[in-house]
Amino acid sequence: MLAETSHPVAAVQLIPHVRIDGLNKWFAALQVLKNIDLSVRPGVRIVVCGPSGSGKSTLIRCINGLEPFQKGTIQLDGIALGRNARDTATARRLTGMVFQSFNLFPHLTVLANCTLALRRVLLKPAREAEEIAMQHLTAVRIPEKAQAFPAQLSGGQQQRVAIARALCLNPRIMLFDEPTSALDPEMIKEVLDVMIALAGSGVTMVCVTHEMGFAREVADEIVFMDEGRIVEHASSRDFFSRAAHPRARLFLDTIL
Ligand code: ADP
Ligand code: MG
Repeated sequence: MLAETSHPVAAVQLIPHVRIDGLNKWFAALQVLKNIDLSVRPGVRIVVCGPSGSGKSTLIRCINGLEPFQKGTIQLDGIALGRNARDTATARRLTGMVFQSFNLFPHLTVLANCTLALRRVLLKPAREAEEIAMQHLTAVRIPEKAQAFPAQLSGGQQQRVAIARALCLNPRIMLFDEPTSALDPEMIKEVLDVMIALAGSGVTMVCVTHEMGFAREVADEIVFMDEGRIVEHASSRDFFSRAAHPRARLFLDTIL
């Protein structure tokens, strides 16, 4: 049997995929993130919820390197992101991002949307990039739309393509920002089903969502934000049974 602690691979896996210490961010005079500490260990699924304007998107965007921040540190796989410059190279390589509004390139086919970064960032030959893309399109159950353009797809189909596109770069962590909130009700389930399957495959996830059924089913931990702070961070079971913070209780009472 391998001695886990002395095995080099096991040691590497102990580094959290994301480690945030004392993160503070301002938009001009408005402080939107206040002393955020958060570690995301490999394989863990975290759901982030909280009222509108509480800083959820900003937090995700800081992890993804899309937003600069003024104080604190963010490490991805032990690599510190720069505070001032948009540190896109590291963050883009290590994170996969899925937005509320899909953000597919409208002038590219589904397949080309998926192969673009594989070719440009990872410099994969066309054939290999297409093979990888088709694997992920198959996993999100939409391989037959490879040659279609985004405008020819439903919202739910577009969001599944966006998930496949993010997975193509084999990210250490998948970040979702309200991936179903722009969808018609009948399409929410097809996207959540893909995300549930993804969670089952062991992918590390941080997901901003108000889909509490999804949170109950897949989240290991729930983070509740209010006015730029993490006011509750608990195991999913504890959160749903006895969230202590009054804002979290109120939120649960209105949403469940
Ligand atoms: P949430 O995703 O929880 O709804 P956000 O992270 O989008 O919250 O926003 C947090 C706060 O930051 C809000 O007060 C919002 O108005 C403000 N904010 C977000 N983006 C910007 C921006 N680009 N410029 C100025 N203020 C912003
Ligand atoms: Mg938001």
